[in-house]
Amino acid sequence: MGAGPAGARAAWVLVRHGARVTILDASHPREKSCGGGVTGRALALVADAIDATSCARTPIHTARFVRLRACGASAGPAPNRTGLTTPESATVDLDRGALVVASRVEFDAQLLHAAQQAGATLEPARVTDLRVDADGVTLETRHGHRRADVVIGADGANSLVRRRVAQPFRRDQLSIATGFFAHGVTSTEIVIAFVADPPGYIWSFPRPGHLAIGICAEATAGHSSEALRARTAEWIRATGIAPGARLEPYAWPIPSLAVRDARELTVAGSRWLLAGDAAGLVDPITREGIYFALASGQWAAESLLGDGFASAYSSRVAEEAGRELGRAARFKAGFFRPAFINVLMRALQQSAGVRAVMADLIAGRQGYADLRWRLLKTFEIGLAWRALTSSSSRPAL
Ligand SMILES: Cc1cc2nc3c(=O)[nH]c(=O)nc-3n(C[C@H](O)[C@H](O)[C@H](O)COP(=O)(O)OP(=O)(O)OC[C@H]3O[C@@H](n4cnc5c(N)ncnc54)[C@H](O)[C@@H]3O)c2cc1C
Repeated sequence: MGAGPAGARAAWVLVRHGARVTILDASHPREKSCGGGVTGRALALVADAIDATSCARTPIHTARFVRLRACGASAGPAPNRTGLTTPESATVDLDRGALVVASRVEFDAQLLHAAQQAGATLEPARVTDLRVDADGVTLETRHGHRRADVVIGADGANSLVRRRVAQPFRRDQLSIATGFFAHGVTSTEIVIAFVADPPGYIWSFPRPGHLAIGICAEATAGHSSEALRARTAEWIRATGIAPGARLEPYAWPIPSLAVRDARELTVAGSRWLLAGDAAGLVDPITREGIYFALASGQWAAESLLGDGFASAYSSRVAEEAGRELGRAARFKAGFFRPAFINVLMRALQQSAGVRAVMADLIAGRQGYADLRWRLLKTFEIGLAWRALTSSSSRPAL
């Protein structure tokens, strides 16, 4: 249920192994509130099903990191009016294919089309309720009900399946992402502008024909969606990044699990599995969710093809996603601290080694297990970090 990346990928894998699959989703073709950043690892995963080069996408050549004045910037010059060309910014070159920014209308349509071509049936219906019993699952739609042996809940952050078969996400497990699609402007550069409050960053991801600009805050952090969007609008004005653009607002929740939640994921039961956002699988720092949606859709399908799918899938998700997301969650608080951002910005400006680490992080090639050590091993950040932590009782990372 759900024809986003998780559902479409699960369906594609299943039907190619002879399973009968119906995808229930009334929304397609649809744009998704999303940056649309698709990492090299996500593209590689689906290269067997789609030719992503034929879908509208913007190849990204550089990532520009900017530290805004509010980010504990006691030292260094203040950003100029553009905020993008001051010494407080650093540019990281990305290799070809590290990241593309895709139109989600087209990227998701390609995945769905591939699943249909392989033999899956799309039923354009919204599921309004479901019940799981010993023999199967009943899914209610406005056009009547459907029976299935098993349901894959690939229905996103507000997952109905999750609400019926497990616990809905608590507020502290969600972030609010909001911003604007700035129509009529594009670029080949992503911009990451660190802000201290809420701890994180404003991003600009250039899609074909528009920029997806946004900000994200934990749902319990006390920032309303309107206030965050106003902040983003102010940044757009101050930087001049989208001159003359028509601004279309968006807002959508992103699962953002804490360390403990990532270790205790609930993703499968006797007749159901949860994949993608419905399972909570989004990196809490980079917000990369598309790769995890595709991968978990595939793992769900592969588990269903064998025996004991619920435990097989639960173990695989824990092993291949839960651990990594848990590490990201642990890393997050320290990562966005002004003191660390200060060190990071200086190192990004001065060190090719640190720029290489960040390029790999953006491309989804840098795991969190050795991120800290790889950063500390670079001469510049190692020195700065030691100086910083020698006068403080507690290292931030
Ligand atoms: C602002 C923002 C920016 C982001 N930027 C990035 C980024 O740059 N890169 C990245 O990798 N990730 C990003 N993400 C995360 C990414 O968008 C998600 O992780 C990804 O879309 C998850 O895929 P999915 O298939 O699990 O769910 P979705 O893509 O949300 O698809 C779920 C589908 O289920 C359908 N559905 C829902 N309810 C029902 C129902 N009751 N009946 C039938 N169908 C239903 C929906 O219509 C939808 O088509 C971002 C998220 C947000 C909010």
